[in-house]
Amino acid sequence: MSQNWAVLKFGGTSVAGKPQWETIRELLQQKVAEGNRVLLVCSAISGITSRLSELAEHPVESFLDAILATHVKLAIELDVSTDSWLEIARQRMQNCLSRLQQGDDHAARADLLATGEWLSTQIGASFLSQFLPVDWLDIRKYLIAREEPELSPARQWLSASCVAGVDQNFQQTCSALKQVVITQGYIAANAAGCTVLLGRGGSDTSAALLAGRLGAESVEIWTDVPGLFSADPRLIPQARLLEELEYSEALEMAASGAKVVHPSCIRAAAETGTIIIIRDT
Ligand code: ASP
Ligand code: MG
Repeated sequence: MSQNWAVLKFGGTSVAGKPQWETIRELLQQKVAEGNRVLLVCSAISGITSRLSELAEHPVESFLDAILATHVKLAIELDVSTDSWLEIARQRMQNCLSRLQQGDDHAARADLLATGEWLSTQIGASFLSQFLPVDWLDIRKYLIAREEPELSPARQWLSASCVAGVDQNFQQTCSALKQVVITQGYIAANAAGCTVLLGRGGSDTSAALLAGRLGAESVEIWTDVPGLFSADPRLIPQARLLEELEYSEALEMAASGAKVVHPSCIRAAAETGTIIIIRDT
């Protein structure tokens, strides 16, 4: 299949407001004009996953309302309707909270935390579809975590992993959709179809896995820093921006504290030989 796939991932700060979504729109329009099909992988709005995690600990209605209010604010900024997602999200979150109260611990927590990516992509799809041919995809149908019964239930539900590789079924599914496909980072499903998470910061990993499944040459991680530096630029002003790194070097840097790309993302990309391009929004 000779389709040109551009796979772009946007993190929490890059999906938080109107200027950021305008940037995303312009980038997508450029990619489409160049003849690419685009897979857009998004994180939750910055801070939302942590707030959802606090909500799981302290299930207070006003706290739930505040999380939704952040999304309503973004929708108003982007001038999109809340009709197709607001009540669904509220019910889903309330349902997760009552499951948590009944002791359905990890499964309900995973479902609750996954709401952030569900919401950001719902709002993003509504906004972008005013300008581009966009389909929203529920990634849980296609990104299935590997079974690791030897791991703790917390790891299996909240920090699952997926096998990296080409997936012709996924290629065909995406090729039959509109030219731009928007989907969730951080989220996958287990063999039973229940929501699992790829660990905090896991959207990078999703993007690398999905680029690998599509056979894309590269995955673009759009973030708010220019890339990997030879040292922490906040501490060492002479730190150099690194032009190009091997996977092993990038992994070493991630192990010694560089937080630009998640190590599981680097590992997934290495397995399929997908180039990770870091871009500053
Ligand atoms: N939203 C998730 C987190 O905050 C995943 C991600 O942003 O990569 O951990
Ligand atoms: Mg991140």
